[in-house]
Amino acid sequence: MNGHPTEDLALWAEVDLGCIRRNVSRIKGRLTPGTALLAVVKANGYGHGEVEAARAAIDGGADWLGVARTQEGAALREAGIDRPILLLAQPPLSALAAAAEFRLTPTIYTEEAARAWAAQATGGHPLGCHVKVDTGMHRYGVACEQAEEFLDLLRGLPGLRVEGIWTHFAVAEEVANSFTSQQHKLFGELLDSLGPKADGLIRHMSNSAGALTLPEAHLDLVRTGIATYGIYPSPALAGTVELEPAMSLKSRVGLVKRLAAGEAISYGQRYKLSRDGLVATIPCGYADGLRRALGNHGEVLIRGRRYRISGTITMDHFLVDAGDDVVEIGDEVVILGRQRDDRITAQEMADKLGTIPYEVVCGISARVRRIYLNRQPGPGGS
Ligand SMILES: *Cc1c(COP(=O)(O)O)cnc(C)c1O
Repeated sequence: MNGHPTEDLALWAEVDLGCIRRNVSRIKGRLTPGTALLAVVKANGYGHGEVEAARAAIDGGADWLGVARTQEGAALREAGIDRPILLLAQPPLSALAAAAEFRLTPTIYTEEAARAWAAQATGGHPLGCHVKVDTGMHRYGVACEQAEEFLDLLRGLPGLRVEGIWTHFAVAEEVANSFTSQQHKLFGELLDSLGPKADGLIRHMSNSAGALTLPEAHLDLVRTGIATYGIYPSPALAGTVELEPAMSLKSRVGLVKRLAAGEAISYGQRYKLSRDGLVATIPCGYADGLRRALGNHGEVLIRGRRYRISGTITMDHFLVDAGDDVVEIGDEVVILGRQRDDRITAQEMADKLGTIPYEVVCGISARVRRIYLNRQPGPGGS
């Protein structure tokens, strides 16, 4: 442990940047030739660290980056990242000045925002934007029937240049759901009906699920988030391409004590020892993103063995009844990730929580220090 960067940490998230590089490169290798890849690094890179994830994705071959919020894009620019950055939602009008300052490409779907964006242009240089069309997700976007008129309007604004047109799938991770092909068909019909008006536009619609399963929907660009981090959008897509989960959550046993049968542990006394045994306390709690609902339910790895989390998860700690096994203070505890021959996946944790792995990795809180493995000096910095 001497001098190891985790030596003085109770809990840390290890992010293997080599996994992100290889995931991006493998996904890119499966795309229809000519399709570019936009790595989605919103929400602190799905919890992995925005700037580090972005650099690794670029090193793996990402052409674009995508974020949800203007501040996320600004942070990438401030770190010296120079790739095109798409804002996946239209920013508030008051954020457009910052979007221009940081050379972000906003997605636009209202006339008001289009005019305000055009007004940010200076020195006769029009500002780029992508137009989003709603093909059935019904979150954001101009209706398909209004798309042509909207494009015409935008092209009449001297300060603005439309560079792309895109839409978003609602259920692409459900392999058998025909709604995805309906959306694909609608978008294709729209592009056809636009004819030459769509020429030169970057057309895109696929998230990770679309990128992995629908080559016909690759178009000019795919926007991959979750797969970048080594997690399949749904278990049904496991194996479509080899992905390596980049993030692990690790801690060390903080205390071990022997307790007698019948003793109850942690808040609410929701776990009672059925026989005398060794109880370990581990410094990871719901404030770190280990959801309280995993009390008496989730599992962790210690010395290569699985243990159920015993009793209530508290804000900063949880407990494990190790029975007759040997467990010592300082033993590594893997909450998410691999230890010896076993692995706790974000999917496993999500299944126990009735949620999706996206929420598990995004939920690892800011308090948890990220430790980066296999950082590479390379073009990702610029
Ligand atoms: C978050 C997001 C994505 C990435 O989705 P994944 O399922 O993580 O690949 C793609 N497009 C848009 C518009 C998004 O908001």
